[in-house]
Amino acid sequence: MKGAAQSYHDLLDYCQSIYIIDCHDHAMHTGPKYTDPVQVVVGEYFHTDLASATSAEEAQLLLDDTVAWEKRWPILEKAWARTKHTGYAQVTRRVLRRFYEEDGLSFEALQRMQERLPDLSDVDAYDAVLEEAKILLRIEDVWPDTGEILAGTYTPTPRGKVVISLPDLHAIRSYASVQEIVAPLGRTVSTLDEYLNACREIFEGFKSYGAVAFKDQSAYTRALDYGNPTRAEAEAVFNWFMADPLRNASYPQQTRPLDDYLFNTFMRMARDMDLPVQIHTGHLAGLWGDIRGANAVQMADFFLRHRQTRFDLFHANWPYSGEALYLCKNFPNVMVDFCWTNMLDPIYCQNMYRQALSSVPHGKIFGFGSDLGAHGFYGHSGYPDRAWAHAQIARENIAIALSDMVEIGYLGLDEAKEVAYGWLFANPNAFYRLGL
Ligand SMILES: [Zn+2]
Repeated sequence: MKGAAQSYHDLLDYCQSIYIIDCHDHAMHTGPKYTDPVQVVVGEYFHTDLASATSAEEAQLLLDDTVAWEKRWPILEKAWARTKHTGYAQVTRRVLRRFYEEDGLSFEALQRMQERLPDLSDVDAYDAVLEEAKILLRIEDVWPDTGEILAGTYTPTPRGKVVISLPDLHAIRSYASVQEIVAPLGRTVSTLDEYLNACREIFEGFKSYGAVAFKDQSAYTRALDYGNPTRAEAEAVFNWFMADPLRNASYPQQTRPLDDYLFNTFMRMARDMDLPVQIHTGHLAGLWGDIRGANAVQMADFFLRHRQTRFDLFHANWPYSGEALYLCKNFPNVMVDFCWTNMLDPIYCQNMYRQALSSVPHGKIFGFGSDLGAHGFYGHSGYPDRAWAHAQIARENIAIALSDMVEIGYLGLDEAKEVAYGWLFANPNAFYRLGL
């Protein structure tokens, strides 16, 4: 993509010259070790567009490595023809161009790619692509084994810093789900107090290991309208299922009071531990998700309640940009993060970056997060190739938006560079206390 403004190339050169922070990804393992060229095209998120453009059965077949890729090509060809212009497709196109020197998708192109598939499970090869992307650090939501974290034996993928994943800890609904969470501490618990103490101990262990934040994506399993129930309401539910290991609290009547109470309590722990909280808001990965429960605006009273807890709202609340900007402007403790969003919808980002500059403090915006590895294809690989492409799109989106603002005389070129530096590096570096 190219901006029309005079200063576009100058700003893009600047954005390409600086190291950036990847605010969010799911790189559980290095990789992929590609075994066929269709894997390179499908990647992970682009598979959703392909599935949306064909059928669930055909999309599933695209992932079936036991069928020769030549047999899967007709499905890919048909789906590509219907969805080759999305942001996700942009990632694929850039990967094809940079790593395979292919300008388009064809059977012949795939045949040529077959001969040069990289093994990105190799740590050095993996890290070399991150270096080319100038991604200095990745904040990773990778669900590590709690026991390994507490023992200090867990090894993240290159450049990775872990976060503490919260959803399972406040969605407890049975005796077994409680004991499974506290098991790494080598004990069982029987009261709400004991459970909260155990959670706090796990959080402290993660922090000692080097975790830089909490992460919550409960928008996938419930609406974000967290209420403020009493401890008595929560404890009644907890005691009800702890009294009989066969009981399961029902959603939402029984689970909500406990879930909401625990989440509020964890926010106070986050405040006391000085760790920020990343929250999934907006679009849900995959198909058929109901986005209405994921709009961050439902958390306005929650942010008001937790004034001293610091929040990072993910995915620019796509497609509810106005609500995200309102929250960021109105609440000093709320930041907006464009992780995933740059490839999810590049034009949304370009427009919102411009609007963010004119409406919210530019020091509260985080410009990039690759968000790769969540789908679990090819072993939750970290996809440095796609992260490279995604970072390139993010740099272009920011350069286009800011050069447009320079063009209309809103700010000077040097000031625009300062904003870009903040969005891509300085703001998350300070917020997450990364000390880079
Ligand atoms: Zn994610």
